[in-house]
Amino acid sequence: MTAARHPTATPRPPSAGGPIAVLMYHAIEPAGVDSDADPHYTVSPQAFEAQLDAFDALGRRPSSVRDLLAAAAAGHPQPPSVAITFDDGHSSNGAAADRLVARGAGADFFVNPSLVGQRHRLSWSALRSMSAAGLSIQSHGHTHDYLDGMTEAGVADSLTRSKAAIEDAIGAPVTLFAPPGGRVHPALHRLAAAKGYRALCTSRSGTWTPGRDDAAIPRLAVLATSDLDRMRRWAQADPLLIARARLRSEALDAMKRLLGNGTYERLRSAALGRRG
Ligand SMILES: [Zn+2]
Repeated sequence: MTAARHPTATPRPPSAGGPIAVLMYHAIEPAGVDSDADPHYTVSPQAFEAQLDAFDALGRRPSSVRDLLAAAAAGHPQPPSVAITFDDGHSSNGAAADRLVARGAGADFFVNPSLVGQRHRLSWSALRSMSAAGLSIQSHGHTHDYLDGMTEAGVADSLTRSKAAIEDAIGAPVTLFAPPGGRVHPALHRLAAAKGYRALCTSRSGTWTPGRDDAAIPRLAVLATSDLDRMRRWAQADPLLIARARLRSEALDAMKRLLGNGTYERLRSAALGRRG
């Protein structure tokens, strides 16, 4: 395969590779399973496996953002990659983690310490095993409350408490933060840097060049409806398809701002036929 070159690419330092896709998954379980996972964001185990096969066939190695950042910082040349992340610490991520480890692949798992061990959520012992297997366990906030409804002190507290709780339980540094629901607070970047986070993994669509623009890393949300063709093109950082995803996510962000979180979630739940 020959990936299309980005038309506006500028010369890069030798250690930096090209732009890559950072994929954002949630639950990985069959449709209709009685869990609290949002069906819109739930990918079946078969589809997930097929996606990993497709990345393999494209020569794109699934890696964690943590490991890609470390390689870029060390100046190591990076093989073509696709970054894999999971939000919410859903219990179905345990089996997905096993499949990734079996393939020698990496991923970041963003969890809320206040929810770890609750119904349909991974336990601390599962997260410890995943970390020991080389996977990256990172912060999705102390609770899943949206940061845009918090005071600055509340945001600071969520950053500090979640980092300390995960580091205490896992014994590995927490250096990445993914804001719940992708909602940010004006002080988030400043506070996250001050609390020792190296990067934010956002819900804005786009591609990322490791070692460049690391402060806010865009991600592409993988949905129940994301077909293999789209996943292949995303994994190759197809500029046209990424631009389309970016436009869609900007329109969605504007709608959330316009409606407010409460109204937006109610309308979305009603549209999806879920609890209001
Ligand atoms: Zn979340």
